[in-house]
This record gives sequence, structure tokens and C-alpha cells, in this order.
Amino acid sequence: MICYPPSLRHLIRHLSGLPGIGEKTAERLALHLVRSRKKDAEALAFGILNVKEKIRLCSRCFGLSDSDVCDICANPARDPALLCVVENVSEMIAIERSGAFYGRYHILQGVLSPMDGIGPDDIRIEELLQRVAEGDVKEIILATNTHLEGETTAIYLSERLEGKPVKVTRIASGVPLGGDLKYVDQLTLKRAMETRYVLG
Ligand code: ZN
Repeated sequence: MICYPPSLRHLIRHLSGLPGIGEKTAERLALHLVRSRKKDAEALAFGILNVKEKIRLCSRCFGLSDSDVCDICANPARDPALLCVVENVSEMIAIERSGAFYGRYHILQGVLSPMDGIGPDDIRIEELLQRVAEGDVKEIILATNTHLEGETTAIYLSERLEGKPVKVTRIASGVPLGGDLKYVDQLTLKRAMETRYVLG
């Protein structure tokens, strides 16, 4: 890298700091940008500055938004009675991509993890209870991950929601579609047996 001029070294150093980008890839990207049209480079630079300027957390669901309330929360076609609770934005995006959900979300911004010192006050639990208290929500779907912290968080939330006028459900987990039973781990298989359903 020493053979590059300082401006190019600067760009390579910052590109290589991005996740999944090693120094070789950073060099390739930087050289590509050197060769690219000025307006394409400007559009990329503007895109980076623009997200830093505009992106914030939605004041309702804590998802990413360009404005105070995100498009999903502001969309009157989304069912306000259904609230899906997830750990982070990436899980919300995965559920959105599935096309299987038409309600709204609440993004906890993490999970309970006593080992890491993350307790109920460190994630958006009070805000969830506040949304429930407002009365529109009729069903809370706990869609935290199925690892230990996700399960702990789901159990904690179901306890906190006990006695409130909402139905609390947990996403089913089990055998992946196209999967082969003999390769499925014991816990998953156990859960699949417990959450079996009637056909037809
Ligand atoms: Zn929102």
C-alpha cells in the first residue's frame, strides 16, 4: 500500500475498516473508484453522508427511519392489533421479506443477557409495555431468536404481559422446510414435536 499516493491510501484504509472487506478487496474497490465516473463517486459519497444525516430510530417501533415515525408504523394498511417483537432491525427485515406478516413491529434493540450485564432497563421493554397500555394492540408475537438469551427474553416478556388484555404468542420453531429429520438437532426436534399441529 506504501506505493499508493496519500489520498488513495486514506481511502483504502477506510474501506478496509468495513465489515467483510479485507485489504485486498479495499484496494480493488479504491482502484475501481479511481477509474469510475466522477458523478458515480459523488453519488456514493452523498449516499454515505445522507444516511448518516437522516437515519434515526422510529419513535414508535425503534426500527430505522428517515423521519420521526417509520413507513411501517405510519402505514394505515398495517394491522395495529398485531405487534411482532424482535431483537434487532435485521430480524424485522427478515420477517418483512417473508411477506408473512401484516402487523407492526417493536424492536427491542437487543436481548436480556445477564452474563453481559444487559437487563430489562437496557432494552426497549418499558416502551413495549407503554404501547400495550395504549390499547390498540390485541396480540403480541414474541419473535426473539431461539437461542438462550432470546428464549429468556421471550419468557420474561410473557411474564411482564401476564394479566394485560393482550394475547401473547411465540413464533413456532421446528424442522426447516426441505430439511431431513436425521440432521435436525435434539432441541429443535423436541420443539417441533411440542408445537405440532393438526393437518386439514
Ligand atoms: Zn416504526
